[in-house]
Amino acid sequence: MSLTHSEEITIKTAIVTGGSRGIGRDTVLNLARRGVRIIFTYHTNQAEAATVAALAATTGAQAHALPLDIGQTGGFDAFAEAVRKTLAGFGTERFDYLVNNAGISSNVSFMETTEAELDALYTAHFKAPFLLTQKLLPLMRDGGRIVNISSGLARFAGRNRAAYGSMKAAVETLTRYMALELGPRRITANVVAPGAIATDFSGGIVRDNPEVNKMVADHTALGRAGLPEDVGPVIASLLSADFGWVNAQRIEVAGGMVI
Ligand code: NAP
Repeated sequence: MSLTHSEEITIKTAIVTGGSRGIGRDTVLNLARRGVRIIFTYHTNQAEAATVAALAATTGAQAHALPLDIGQTGGFDAFAEAVRKTLAGFGTERFDYLVNNAGISSNVSFMETTEAELDALYTAHFKAPFLLTQKLLPLMRDGGRIVNISSGLARFAGRNRAAYGSMKAAVETLTRYMALELGPRRITANVVAPGAIATDFSGGIVRDNPEVNKMVADHTALGRAGLPEDVGPVIASLLSADFGWVNAQRIEVAGGMVI
């Protein structure tokens, strides 16, 4: 599709990792409703990704799914090239927003965490956002936005989340460094830290385990566990023009969990 010059500078383009399910899926759909063009990624669920792309298309927005494994950082150059080609298909050379959302869970005590588990969490939650952002920045327009997804577990300690919570804390610190070093390009970097959200994450434990769901509700001021629909609109809003002066901040989206 060829665009006029004014359309080209008006239509924003986002990249959302892990857009096939959960929080990323809701982010893609919220961005689509706001007229943002989206490249989002999936890992194994191509069919779910196709459904998300089709749902996004019903809003009139363009959404294109690309495969990405955040555990295989050696594939990031090829991913950046796939992004470049997809942008060319959209009729543009640059994108505006990056949401580093894809992630894996872990439910193991500090003492029982193996080196392999620690490495996998480090790669997914710190090394991947670090290196993927590096690879994609040449394709990001000056004045762009980065949102890194952390967790309430970076602020409060939850049983069996030592490695996971610590990696999320690390990506929060990284976000402030991104904001500092990318400021000269007018690129902002912020953190969205969801509380416990009822998704497939961690085997769907928050959604499907009644005891865990109740425990979360009991520790949350608003009295229930979070839903993807509680988080996606916040991420999409944070990327809007209204939030252009918000930089290097952490916004917890948790209904008041463990306050
Ligand atoms: P989810 O429902 O399990 O979805 C995970 C997404 O990440 C899917 O799109 C999945 O792709 C993708 N993904 C998984 N492993 C991947 C890999 N190796 N490479 C690339 N993509 C991969 O999770 P969620 O609850 O939406 O969580 C999204 C983010 O929010 C994560 O960073 C998580 O740590 C964070 N978070 C979640 C909660 C919560 O309670 N749910 C709370 C705080 C923070 P496929 O569909 O193809 O597998």
